[in-house]
Amino acid sequence: MDQNEAFGRCICAMCPTYMECEQGKAFCMPGAKRSKCIKVENGCICPGCPVYSEMKFSSVYYCIKGSDAEQKPGRK
Ligand code: SF4
Ligand code: SF4
Repeated sequence: MDQNEAFGRCICAMCPTYMECEQGKAFCMPGAKRSKCIKVENGCICPGCPVYSEMKFSSVYYCIKGSDAEQKPGRK
């Protein structure tokens, strides 16, 4: 799945933590930047997202903590 497809399928906009800024979405994807405005964790609905299951992701709060690859053990 590429970035554009993930962006289109991302459900972040329905998340209680989400705040819209700079069109940020699909924070889970490789190379995605963290949100510049989301700072407070109010729940993460990523595990219910079709991108999440298709990409076999396993972390949460990508908007604050970085992409799935960044959060894998042994990586920064
Ligand atoms: S897993 Fe989370 S960040 Fe990634 S596309 Fe889905 S809702 Fe967005
Ligand atoms: S990455 Fe998770 S916590 Fe952040 S906005 Fe998307 S669904 Fe919500």
